[in-house]
Amino acid sequence: MSDWLEPHVIASAPGRVNLIGEHIDFSHGFVLPFAIADRTTAKLRRRDDSIIRIRSVQRPDDVISTSLSELNPLGGGDWERYVLGVIWSLKIDQGVDIEIDGQVPLGAGLSSSAALECAVAVALNQLFALNHSRKELALLTQKAENDYVGVPCGIMDQSVSLMAQEGSALLLDCRDLTTTLIPFDLAASSLELLVIDTQVHHTLVDGGYAERRNNCESAAAKIGVVSMRDLSSQLLQESKSLLTEHEFLRARHAVTEIARVAQAVELLKAKDFNELGKVITASHLSLRDDYEVSCPELNCAVDTALANGALGARMVGGGFGGSAIALVAQNQLDVTEKAIAAAFSSAGFIAPRFFTSLPSDGARVELDLSSI
Ligand code: ADP
Ligand code: MG
Repeated sequence: MSDWLEPHVIASAPGRVNLIGEHIDFSHGFVLPFAIADRTTAKLRRRDDSIIRIRSVQRPDDVISTSLSELNPLGGGDWERYVLGVIWSLKIDQGVDIEIDGQVPLGAGLSSSAALECAVAVALNQLFALNHSRKELALLTQKAENDYVGVPCGIMDQSVSLMAQEGSALLLDCRDLTTTLIPFDLAASSLELLVIDTQVHHTLVDGGYAERRNNCESAAAKIGVVSMRDLSSQLLQESKSLLTEHEFLRARHAVTEIARVAQAVELLKAKDFNELGKVITASHLSLRDDYEVSCPELNCAVDTALANGALGARMVGGGFGGSAIALVAQNQLDVTEKAIAAAFSSAGFIAPRFFTSLPSDGARVELDLSSI
């Protein structure tokens, strides 16, 4: 459209993969995500009125035009809510034109939503000289997704999109939200992280996730600890008779997963990728057998990857579909992908999508003409 003028600020932010630490954020555990190379870019131009206009290369048929006074949390809408939510949570009081272009695959479990929110947040922060720290922006973009869009996500996706660094994973302590960069230089070891998007999303019987979370919380209450973070394997074993079978299994996943993240950090520091692979696979077995959130497609992806050169593999994210990851030598990648595609085909599953990525930089300002 001809009346879209040159931007004053351009910022970009990446999607992410969580290496390990699944379904333990609410148990005050740790997660260990890294930023992928695929990024979303936001180009912003300040306006002299209170109009907000948004368009996205990925949504060519929609040009959104609204105003600051029409911002409405949980008010419905489509993809533009992620952008409006950030304008709302950052309390922007001036009109702005926003153009989006994203390379993060949408809905593949790589968090295109956080990439979008964080690119917009970093650009707004620069354009209006808001001086928010990256940590504050993580909380504000999470608030946008929780309270404006209405998706009850944790803080992981936004934290890593904003604070990641190339060649590192970001250890996030979900109890106090402190972060630590952990070296994760896959390229130097000729390894790749393969993402296998099963493209299926099995609908979970009502309340399946909430039930698992409640199992962890009731187990903690019966044993007398604040959360799974405060529970040792030994105390869990000693307390087994107090718990229902489900409480015990869910708690065992949480306790062992928290321990596996700690192991993974040490193995990354030691660059011991063979052992790291085993810990990643152990996470999958725990999610499959104790937490019970896997599905045939995810198990097929993991089993086939492991039988075809992967050092380790696991399902990632909520489960019952979505993506799996596999740690694979660069020269094995083709073999692994072909084997998974063939296994899916012979099982009658729809064809999976493959992505690879190396740990990349977090959000950054790409152009700043805000003082003009
Ligand atoms: P994920 O974050 O795993 O990719 P979500 O469902 O959380 O999946 O977020 C995807 C949604 O985010 C899309 O359906 C769309 O509404 C919005 N979105 C993300 N990136 C873009 C983009 N580049 N342009 C428009 N909308 C986007
Ligand atoms: Mg998302």
